[in-house]
Amino acid sequence: MAEGYCVKCKSKKEIADAVEELMKNGRKAIKGKCPTCGVVMFKILGGKNAPAEVSSKTALPPQPAKLSLSEPSQASN
Ligand SMILES: [Zn+2]
Repeated sequence: MAEGYCVKCKSKKEIADAVEELMKNGRKAIKGKCPTCGVVMFKILGGKNAPAEVSSKTALPPQPAKLSLSEPSQASN
C-alpha cells in the first residue's frame, strides 16, 4: 500500500497496481496507477532502507594507551 500524488486528480491517492521497482541508483520506487483516473503514478521511496555502514566505529579495539598513574590522587580526608 503506497500513497502517491496524482497530478491529474490533484490529490493524494492510493497507488493501484503498485509494484516496487529498483532504480539504477539503488533507490526504490513504487510504480502504479491512480485508482480514479488511471494515470501512471510514480513514487520514489527513501534511498537507503537499511542503515548503512556509517557507524562502524562503535566496536573499536581498546587501545593500549599509556596509563598515566604518575599523578597520585590526593586524598585529603
Ligand atoms: Zn488520478
